Amino acid sequence: MFGKILIANRGEIALRIIRAARSLDIATVCVFSEADANAPWLELADETVCIGKGPSADSYLRIDRIISAAEMTDAEAIHPGYGFLAENSHFAEVCRDCEIEFIGPSPEAMDLLGDKINCKRLARKAGTPVFPGTDGEIEDLDEAIEIAEEIGYPVIVKATAGGGGKGMRVATDVASLRKAVTAAQQEAIASFGNGAVYLEKFLESARHIEVQVLGDKHGNAIHLYNRDCTSQRRHQKLIEEGPAPGVDPEVRDRVCNSAAELIRKANYSGAATVEFLMNKKQEFFMLEVNTRVQVEHPVTEMITGVDIVKESIRVAAGEPLSWSQDEVKINGHAIECRLNAEDPSKNFMPQPGLIEIWQPAGGPGVRVESHVRPGYRIPPNYDSMIGKLIVHGRDRNEAIVRMRCALSEMKVGPIATTIPLHLQLLNQQPFIEADFDINWVERLLEE
Ligand code: ADP
Repeated sequence: MFGKILIANRGEIALRIIRAARSLDIATVCVFSEADANAPWLELADETVCIGKGPSADSYLRIDRIISAAEMTDAEAIHPGYGFLAENSHFAEVCRDCEIEFIGPSPEAMDLLGDKINCKRLARKAGTPVFPGTDGEIEDLDEAIEIAEEIGYPVIVKATAGGGGKGMRVATDVASLRKAVTAAQQEAIASFGNGAVYLEKFLESARHIEVQVLGDKHGNAIHLYNRDCTSQRRHQKLIEEGPAPGVDPEVRDRVCNSAAELIRKANYSGAATVEFLMNKKQEFFMLEVNTRVQVEHPVTEMITGVDIVKESIRVAAGEPLSWSQDEVKINGHAIECRLNAEDPSKNFMPQPGLIEIWQPAGGPGVRVESHVRPGYRIPPNYDSMIGKLIVHGRDRNEAIVRMRCALSEMKVGPIATTIPLHLQLLNQQPFIEADFDINWVERLLEE
C-alpha cells in the first residue's frame, strides 16, 4: 500500500479522499490555491503545498506544479477527485512518466472510454445497450440522412469529443438535420478542437440512470448497482438516489452486468460510472462513461456498504478488489441532495461569501459530506457546491421522510442555498411516485 498520496483537488471531495486515505493509514499531501489558503480540509492533511492563485488555470489545473508538489513531498500517488484534471489523460500519462501512480484508470482506458464513438463500439461488444444511430463519425451527410430516416426523428447530433453538453443539436426533419450537423461541427471545433460528430436517436421524456462500477488491475470488474439522477437543472444533477426506483430486477441486473463487462473489456481500473437514459418501457441506452469518482458516489456507498474511494486507492496500489460481485447486495434506499450556495429565487445565482451559520443535520441514517463550517468564506472561483446531504432508509419512503426531516434541520446562513428548493422537490408528486423525466425540475421552475 502507498505510504503517502497527493490530493489534486479541493472542497468536499478533497476531504472525502483524506478520510479514505487515513482509514488506510496513508499520509496525505493537499495542494491548494491562494483562494483556499485557510480552508478547513487542509487542517486534516499531513502536508500542504500552495500551487498558485485562485483561478483554477493558475493552480488546480497546473499539471507542472502538481507534479512538482508530489515530487517535493515524495508522494507515491495522486488522487484527482472529480472535475479539474480527473478526466485528463495527458495528466495521467505525465504521472506515469514521472513514476507517480494516478489513482484512476490508465490513460489508454480513459481515452478509449472518453471517446464517445470508440466507447459505443466497445459497448456493443460488451452487450451494453446503446442508442441506434451512425456507427461512427458522420463523413457523408446523405448517409446520415438515410440513417435518420431509418431510426426516425427526432435525432441528436453529438460531438465525439463532447462534454458539458457542448456540440449537441437536436433535429426533427431533414432540413434541421442539415443545419444541426454544421452547427454541431462548428461548436465542436471551437470547444474541443475536434469537429467529429455522430448521430443517434433522441429520446424524449427519459430518466437518467447510471451504474457504478469498479475495476482492478487483475482483470476483475464489478458493478455496485444503479442510481437515478433524473432531477436535474441545465444538465446539473440536483438529487440522486439509489437503487433507481421502478426498474425491474432482471432489467437492472442485465444492464448493471453489461456495464461491468464494458469496463472489464476496457481493462479499466478504479471507479467509473456508466450513464444511461431509460424510457417508460424500461429500455436503456448508454450516454457516456465517466472515468472518475462521481459527486453522487455516497448514495451507492450507503446502500452497498462499499467504500468506493478507499477501494479506488487500494486498486491503484495493485491490490485486487476486496469485494466480489456476489458479496455486493442492496440494503434499503439512499437519497442525496446537493447543497449549493446558489439563490434559486435569483436564477440560481452563485452566492460566494461568508458562512456565519452552519448547522448540519444528524441522526440515524443521515450523512453530511461537507468542507464548510461557521466562519468559512466561499471563494468565488469554484463551483458552488458547499456540501451533500445523504440519507439512508430501509425503503424509499423512509428515505424520503428522513431527507425532508434532515433538510429542515439544516441551518445555513446568511447566504442562500438550494435547501428550500430540495424541500419543495421532495414534496412533489412526480418525485414521490418516481414518475418523472429529466426535464421535470425545469418544467416545475417555469410554472
Ligand atoms: P456531455 O458529455 O456533453 O455531457 P452527454 O452525452 O452526457 O453529453 O449528454 C448530455 C445530456 O444531453 C444528457 O444528460 C441528456 O440530457 C441529453 N442527451 C444526450 N443524448 C441524448 C439522446 N440521445 N436523447 C435524449 N437526450 C440526450
